[in-house]
Amino acid sequence: MTEATEKTRFSCVGYGTNRSDQPLGPFTFDRRAPGPRDVQIDILFCGVCHSDIHQARNEWGNTVYPCVPGHEIVGRVVKTGAEVGKFKEGDLAGVGCMVDSCRTCAACRAGLEQYCKRGANFTYNGKEPWGGPTFGGYSKSIVVDQDFVLKVLGNLDLAGVAPLLCAGITTYSPLRHWGVGRGQKVGIVGLGGLGHMGVKLAHAMGAHVVLFTTSPGKAQDAVRLGANEVVLSKDGAQMAAHADSFDFILDTVAAPHDINAYLALLKQDKTLVQVGAPSQPLPVQVFGLIMGRRSFAGSAIGGIAETQEMLDFCAERGITSDIELIPIQQIEGAYGRMLRSDVKYRFVIDMKSLH
Ligand code: NAP
Ligand code: ZN
Ligand code: ZN
Repeated sequence: MTEATEKTRFSCVGYGTNRSDQPLGPFTFDRRAPGPRDVQIDILFCGVCHSDIHQARNEWGNTVYPCVPGHEIVGRVVKTGAEVGKFKEGDLAGVGCMVDSCRTCAACRAGLEQYCKRGANFTYNGKEPWGGPTFGGYSKSIVVDQDFVLKVLGNLDLAGVAPLLCAGITTYSPLRHWGVGRGQKVGIVGLGGLGHMGVKLAHAMGAHVVLFTTSPGKAQDAVRLGANEVVLSKDGAQMAAHADSFDFILDTVAAPHDINAYLALLKQDKTLVQVGAPSQPLPVQVFGLIMGRRSFAGSAIGGIAETQEMLDFCAERGITSDIELIPIQQIEGAYGRMLRSDVKYRFVIDMKSLH
């Protein structure tokens, strides 16, 4: 660093990778020093999202290296810029998948920054003001504009709150948008990080929840998390028993799978929403849509205001993620277990482990 940049940047440690085929390891990089509207946060916990794996390994084909993943961040404010009114030193704070957006397009004005017409600026694999990539939450600290920092109440286990910043909002937003509530039969496909939050949230919204899983060993947990029924998706007879009966289905699966089997389970005029994001196309048999005027839709995270609403909803009801806390040195092992669907139900990195 030159003397000039020393005033505007500081050195930060984290875990990152330079290549899609290289495991994550210790990585030192620059963060911007907080500007007038910025909040600097010391990171306590960061959840491990399957998107981190897709990105670190360039499965979506758009990764800019070096890459420091992590967008389920909870920490403590250590510095604030002169114009920051929303936070003060010592406050708890959260950061999710976005750190900025254009703020002027129709989507931003509607509070849907995730659909910003100029492209939301993501927490990692986005762009710093000086042009370099943004680096995520597998790190000691982060500097973010106050408008993209969430308030976190201290009444819940903070490690269990971190996954709400992505897994929580990504399931909460479509459940709300499609009006899930009491008296409805709602399917959640896949019991991983997103899926287990989908089960908890749909249950909290009063729905009758059916969990679809490929893992027979997860059935008991699904019921404990709030599922009324569990269906083994590989069992054709169990699937057929639910034909034409769902008001809404949320699919969180990260790998290629047959979505037509789920379209057939929707009632007339109802919707299957895809939030899981495998890199390969998911073929749609159009007759499954035509016969019954069914819809196949997608949804991305949620806006900042809705993320705050979700955090408050969870704080009021005592909802957190079921987690396994890991030191950052175990991140590759955690990725391996997630790829084998062996996750219970979110890995969260204890940032104390990062030296
Ligand atoms: P995860 O914790 O790894 O869970 C995925 C679950 O999907 C697995 O535990 C497994 O559940 C099921 N599954 C895995 N492979 C399968 C297969 N071949 N066939 C059927 N089911 C399979 O992942 P996550 O963090 O929840 O993320 C899920 C996906 O959502 C990822 O693609 C991620 O990138 C995406 N995502 C999207 C958004 C968005 O804004 N739309 C936001 C965050 C994440 P069972 O064992 O129960 O079958
Ligand atoms: Zn995520
Ligand atoms: Zn915008």
